[in-house]
Amino acid sequence: MSDFDYDLFVIGGGSGGVRAARVAAAQGAKVALAEESRMGGTCVIRGCVPKKLMVFASGYREGFSEARAYGWDVQDGDFQWPTFRDRLNSELDRLEGVYRTLLDGSGVEIFDGRAVLSDAHTIQVNGEAKTAKHVLLATGGRPTRPDMPNADLGIVSDDIFHLDALPKRLLIIGGGYIACEFACIMAGLGVEVTQFYRGAQILRGFDDEARGLIAEMMREQGIDLRLGTNIVEMAPASEDHTLSWTGTDSDAAMGAAVQDLEALRHDASTTGPIWVKATNGQEGVFDRVLFATGRTPNTDGLGLEEIGVKVGRRGEVEVDEYSQTGVPSIYAIGDVTNRVNLTPVAIREGMAFVETVFKGNPTPVDHDLIPSAVFTQPEYGTVGMTEEEARDQEEIEVYCTSFRPMQTAFAGKPWRVLMKLIVAKSNRKILGCHIVAPNAGEMIQLAGVAVKMGATKEDFDRTVAVHPTMSEEIVTMKEPMRTA
Ligand code: NDP
Repeated sequence: MSDFDYDLFVIGGGSGGVRAARVAAAQGAKVALAEESRMGGTCVIRGCVPKKLMVFASGYREGFSEARAYGWDVQDGDFQWPTFRDRLNSELDRLEGVYRTLLDGSGVEIFDGRAVLSDAHTIQVNGEAKTAKHVLLATGGRPTRPDMPNADLGIVSDDIFHLDALPKRLLIIGGGYIACEFACIMAGLGVEVTQFYRGAQILRGFDDEARGLIAEMMREQGIDLRLGTNIVEMAPASEDHTLSWTGTDSDAAMGAAVQDLEALRHDASTTGPIWVKATNGQEGVFDRVLFATGRTPNTDGLGLEEIGVKVGRRGEVEVDEYSQTGVPSIYAIGDVTNRVNLTPVAIREGMAFVETVFKGNPTPVDHDLIPSAVFTQPEYGTVGMTEEEARDQEEIEVYCTSFRPMQTAFAGKPWRVLMKLIVAKSNRKILGCHIVAPNAGEMIQLAGVAVKMGATKEDFDRTVAVHPTMSEEIVTMKEPMRTA
């Protein structure tokens, strides 16, 4: 008989925590899980799932004109945000219910409340002290705003799904996944989007050519993308804020925005329209400002440092390759560890934890060659190294093609796609695969299998093309575009 109330107490009911709890319970462990908010966590409730549904919603806009080019007699429609949002909320309620049912069905005891550690084996939750042989921290992360006056006038990604109305004019700050995805989503839904990114090109860390094409395609969609630009001041807009951007294409729009303050107030949140000053001195008024300026691990107030769990400079729980902290009974997985902040990785980390702790099979987490997608329009699917990383490591050949895909070219659309392979000269292995194209997320999942298996360029060449598709180009690129 165990001296503890539970074999495992999981703090956090996101994808990683729920999976670990269920799999441990299936091994016969007595498991509890505490969640202070909604079951499902970032991915299900305020991240991947609602975001992807918004990607689908926004994708229809182009569909109307494309359909006309293909002979359909259809008119452009108006997007009804409340209709979509209410359906979205019902779907999230359903998914939350599914998560709870799965936990119940696995015999996991659920605590709806905030859990805090008081020692290496004791958790305080809902006014009770519970003990556990092992504790798994899976508390995820949260969006952060820059440290500047009036930053609370802006919204963060969590807030988007609850808006009363879509903004007419939205300013997005940041150039990462969330900023670029929401820029495309909102533009697709008919919002006038301006995006400030402080760096020289969006999506830092991804392949340069892919980033360049995505930025161009975003501009083509009407997104006013300003690079090397950041926000320096923001305040509630007043009638005195009559200045608009100068020397830019959007002068007219911004001038109109300021004169039309009452209309903006009508659309805007409780905060009302927001005046913004940029690093280049230009000013403008928006009815929403979205900060997509990164996320911070949820480690505050959990009692971690008090009991000896090390927390790093960015607020992340420090763990070893088995997700174990310096306190042997305490493990951590997912975004709270700030390793690779992706849902499927958190799930893998949770499974490896169960394998290690409950199956007696020490399993380090494999963080190598993780395929992923950025759901911009077009999407970006990527696995392995960027050209820039690879050429620093060894001699490479770069195979690359960019073209207008058949479906949208027929409709007279300017959209281009990019297919790119980075090949090691020494052993011909594919070091990186980058696809910017509609549904690139679906394509890269499959290319990821080949790359993970160690496929060579010749393996790709031996594979017969599926014709006519966009992705056939990935097996038909004959000559390297360059070597480096
Ligand atoms: P990112 O870290 O990807 O991007 C943050 C952006 O904000 C960067 O462009 C950064 O600039 C900028 N920034 C940071 N601080 C400031 C500041 N003070 N002023 C102005 N700009 C600032 O974070 P996200 O929030 O976009 O995404 C978080 C994580 O969530 C991602 O890393 C990813 O792992 C995950 N995610 C995955 C998705 C997917 O798989 N499709 C979708 C969404 C999120 P700089 O580059 O100069 O640092």
